[in-house]
Amino acid sequence: MKITAIETIPVQVPIHPERAIRSGRGSHIVSPFLLVKVHTDEGITGLGEVSCTPGWSGEDQVTAAHFIRNFLAPLMIGENPLHIEALTQRIQKRIAHNAFTKAALEMALWDILGKTAGLPVYRLLGGPVREFVPTKFSITGVEPEKAAEIGAWAVEQGFRKMKVKVGTSPDVDVARVMAVRAAVGPDIKLGVDANGGWSPRVAVQTIRRLMEADIYFAEQPVQALDMAWMADVRSQVAVPVIADESLYTLQDAMALVRAGAADVLSVYIGKGGGIGPARKVAAVAEAAGLTCTVGSNLELGVASAAMIHLAMATPGIGAEEYPCDILGPFFYADMLLADPLPIVGGQARPHEKPGLGVELDEEKVEHYRVK
Ligand SMILES: [Mg+2]
Repeated sequence: MKITAIETIPVQVPIHPERAIRSGRGSHIVSPFLLVKVHTDEGITGLGEVSCTPGWSGEDQVTAAHFIRNFLAPLMIGENPLHIEALTQRIQKRIAHNAFTKAALEMALWDILGKTAGLPVYRLLGGPVREFVPTKFSITGVEPEKAAEIGAWAVEQGFRKMKVKVGTSPDVDVARVMAVRAAVGPDIKLGVDANGGWSPRVAVQTIRRLMEADIYFAEQPVQALDMAWMADVRSQVAVPVIADESLYTLQDAMALVRAGAADVLSVYIGKGGGIGPARKVAAVAEAAGLTCTVGSNLELGVASAAMIHLAMATPGIGAEEYPCDILGPFFYADMLLADPLPIVGGQARPHEKPGLGVELDEEKVEHYRVK
């Protein structure tokens, strides 16, 4: 089998205006994503999704299409798509950074492998280590009353664990989390995600104040600029610290472990450049006695499916304690899939079909295509 062409489709699907994420790192109110189709000479097509935002990884659908067309497609066309590891190495070396762009191609190769073998990707990765993927809701950093309303709504949707976005201003952060706690009651597990919005000193002070709201983790309290900041905060607070923006590569994972800077690693398929790289990060966490969760850049259907396969088959992802952020259907007008993923409040499941198990709804894709 050979790769014959790589097609890219820029899409933009509206995000629910009230639930759209605002946090210490700014707002995620539009998703300038790129769908990818890797075509082969045997009629099998692999699907991928560049779930990128400029503020997160410095990519958007224009940069992704450029790098795929001019740099990555030329080294993949004519190659055997089943040589996933070798192609991933070549993709990684061809251009620096742009991890979400690379990940779209890697996940498409897994889709082709699964369709060729007649097996879902999670079975190719070793089979299920859980019945379903536990998920948590993410409450945007809006004013306390509005956040409380969203929290109550999320409970109605079936979520038992949530995180609240903080990192805007300490007093409002505390008021927001307290309001959500009052709205959801004592039995819901609540964490906070500052997206690097606090200084080390403010992080320690604010996390200590938030203990009154019975939080059970603090995600990325400080910026990723210096790992020592995270280690400093972690040594002074009573809750586990999750590293998100501080972690892109396998070497970041190792550095976080060495620095004692995190208790939990937030792995993404996008951040390391694919499903394989994400599993390597999870193995580092396992070796260090840490655990992982799967974080989100608000993926649409194709990349959400890839996240579900990853979490279904990876024991280093401790999704029961730190549920994954696989939340697209709660945010988007449409996930662009012909057959919606079985994602409900608190639980995500893969389709039991070959590859990623999803097909695009081509009419919807056309509707949301950026022209
Ligand atoms: Mg995060």
